[in-house]
Amino acid sequence: MVCDRFGRSIRDIRVALTHRCNLRCIYCHGEGESNPGGELEASEIEKIVRVAAGEGVSRVKLTGGEPLLRGDILEVVKRLSSVPGIEEVSMTTNATLLADVAGDLKEAGLRRINVSLDTLVPERYRMITGFDGLNSVLSGIDEAVRVGLNPVKTNMVLLRDVNEDELWDLVRFSREKGTILQVIELVDSRYNSVFQRFHADVKPLENELRGLTDNVTTRQLHKRKKYFLTGGAEVEIVNPVHNSEFCSNCTRIRLTSDGKLKPCLMRNDNLVDIVGPLRRGADPQTLRELFLKAVDLREPYCKVEENE
Ligand code: SAM
Repeated sequence: MVCDRFGRSIRDIRVALTHRCNLRCIYCHGEGESNPGGELEASEIEKIVRVAAGEGVSRVKLTGGEPLLRGDILEVVKRLSSVPGIEEVSMTTNATLLADVAGDLKEAGLRRINVSLDTLVPERYRMITGFDGLNSVLSGIDEAVRVGLNPVKTNMVLLRDVNEDELWDLVRFSREKGTILQVIELVDSRYNSVFQRFHADVKPLENELRGLTDNVTTRQLHKRKKYFLTGGAEVEIVNPVHNSEFCSNCTRIRLTSDGKLKPCLMRNDNLVDIVGPLRRGADPQTLRELFLKAVDLREPYCKVEENE
């Protein structure tokens, strides 16, 4: 397994399949991509993931844009789940198109799924996403649970004065559906004013959860905490903002929708083009060197001294 200069092993690759999306979420960071050009073929994504797997990466998360807008999504999942060394292919989706395809995704090799669900109130959903179809998302979640894309996680980005008051409704929803609630702290994106306006601190919520249960686990990735509440609800907290522990436990590298290795969500000045050389016929050793170069460029965005 390959490690970066800071001793962090690289186990996960987050692959943006497209920059296209059918929603317009007010806070979206677009996976940190700026002006991507074009998309990769399924076979190109597979070749790049093979290189990553050869260096010890074992988990793939498909993202976007909206991954389900890719007409070849089943082929992508099938190809990636058959790459030697890849133990898990998962996806994050807005689920507006999930209900009809969840079973096929499962069959193609998708292991589990995250669904963006910031609110259960239709008017708020429309305000946040610009889309009037919360019901289609809820059907997508039901279908994902039914076909066993487990654990199904629902992602709630905590937004000040928008959905903070819905936390316990979403906990209840998760408990009833048998899903895991993932509460995500809003990350500063290209829309700075959005961050200023909507950022909500997740620490008070973590303190509240800590007071409710001693049953807490810590994931290796980002040292994320998961709280097991009475009655069966599970709540995971993702707090990346000004959190050196988050960055010092980052085991992830990214592939942009236009074929660049991206060492960090928050930066665009250290991308490594891999699809260009691949299309020009680069041999496996050259591709491997490009992957290792991207790993070498990784550095924690938030360093320990900044946090103290
Ligand atoms: N369209 C897919 C979806 O909705 O999951 C995949 C792309 S979306 C960018 C991936 C995840 O990033 C979603 O769960 C979304 O809520 C989260 N996200 C987007 N912008 C964010 C921000 N500024 N801060 C924190 N999370 C964000």
